[in-house]
Amino acid sequence: MQDSASQLSTTDIAGAVRSLLPYMVETLSGFVAAASPSGQEQPAADFIEGALLDLGLASERIELRADAIKHLPLFSPPCCPDGGRYNLLATHRPASRGGRSVLFNGHLDVVPTGPESMWRNPPYTPVVEDGWLYGRGSGDMKAGIVCALAAFKALRALGVQPAGAVGFNAVLEEENTGNGALATVAALRSAVGAGKLAAFDTVIIPEPLGEGLMSAQVGVYWMFIELTGKPAHAAYMTSGVNPVEAGVAVMEDLRQLEAEWNRPENRPPVYRDHAHPINFNLGQIHGGEWNSSVPCTCTLGVRIGFYPHMDIDETKAIVEARIRATVARLASNLELAIRYEGFHAPGCEFDLDVPSMQSLAEAHRKVHGEPVKREATTATTDARHFRLMLDTPVTCYGPIARNIHGIDESVSLDSMVRVATTLAQFMHDWCGVEPIGRT
Ligand SMILES: [Zn+2]
Repeated sequence: MQDSASQLSTTDIAGAVRSLLPYMVETLSGFVAAASPSGQEQPAADFIEGALLDLGLASERIELRADAIKHLPLFSPPCCPDGGRYNLLATHRPASRGGRSVLFNGHLDVVPTGPESMWRNPPYTPVVEDGWLYGRGSGDMKAGIVCALAAFKALRALGVQPAGAVGFNAVLEEENTGNGALATVAALRSAVGAGKLAAFDTVIIPEPLGEGLMSAQVGVYWMFIELTGKPAHAAYMTSGVNPVEAGVAVMEDLRQLEAEWNRPENRPPVYRDHAHPINFNLGQIHGGEWNSSVPCTCTLGVRIGFYPHMDIDETKAIVEARIRATVARLASNLELAIRYEGFHAPGCEFDLDVPSMQSLAEAHRKVHGEPVKREATTATTDARHFRLMLDTPVTCYGPIARNIHGIDESVSLDSMVRVATTLAQFMHDWCGVEPIGRT
């Protein structure tokens, strides 16, 4: 069922995408301005629902309900209430049958901005400067979602559309739990199981991987270490027990464990080239009341990374044992409570030699003139849900971004054009194409 429509050249596809640069800038600007911290994604959901409708794609709302997914092994203890919040899934269905399908998955939420005074421009005011678009969420990962939309739109501009199903899935709270993607994956799994839906053949997540293909991701969990000491007047400081200083000591000891896991001989092959793949990040510390009082309490909010081959529950036990040993060494009347909230995410490796991933690599080569690089990321992504729950081939492939999770985050517009071109080339090669309006 090949026809002339399936013979578009890479030059034609690249030209169609490049002429959509104004569309990409305008869409990404609106998307960034739709501020969407994790748990408050509604403005971005409304925006993307409109952008999909502009492409003729109606979205289905998939509600995130913790109760419905909390029995699943990949469920993370929630950080925010779930009432009424939803993912959006829009699917292009071709007129002809038989083309292979792809799902583009992206997250709507962004991380906190930090003090606005540290930004050159306000974080939710998109600004284009020297070929980069600035704003919180520009790189991570609103640009990638816009690249997927532009890729689809470019094929349309050339008079064709994918001859296989193409899904666009926009999810909640990727940045703190991943429960958004989990809700969609659980819904897809039961729809496929009930025979209501054909499974997607492959999944691409356009996270800002710098135009590389993701070969692995680390495991990640969040823990809160709560220390209670013995308050006292500073004049009699040595009669008290200081939980803030204990927190500092706990982190120092955890750094030793982190260093052990980072030793070259402990790194699995896929992370051999990384100097420091394992990161224990002290992201928050709250404690103390008064300069002249020994504090009552201290809470540390820590993000723990670990390798794909390590079991998440065993890893938690190892880290907890270290913390308990430190606390026991420091003082007998120091109280410790450990609480888990947020990420409970095993690591995984991804097979990049399966046909869909080879097709994506080949599309990249056609557009760039050189082979794609493989990248084992030291973060987690929603790819784990597709890999571990559905066993669907999945990777991340997205544009070059700077300062993600930092200040003055930005994304390269040239890179967005190359990524959108590669995704359009991939849909052309993988799904095949058919003339628009064919019935
Ligand atoms: Zn991201």
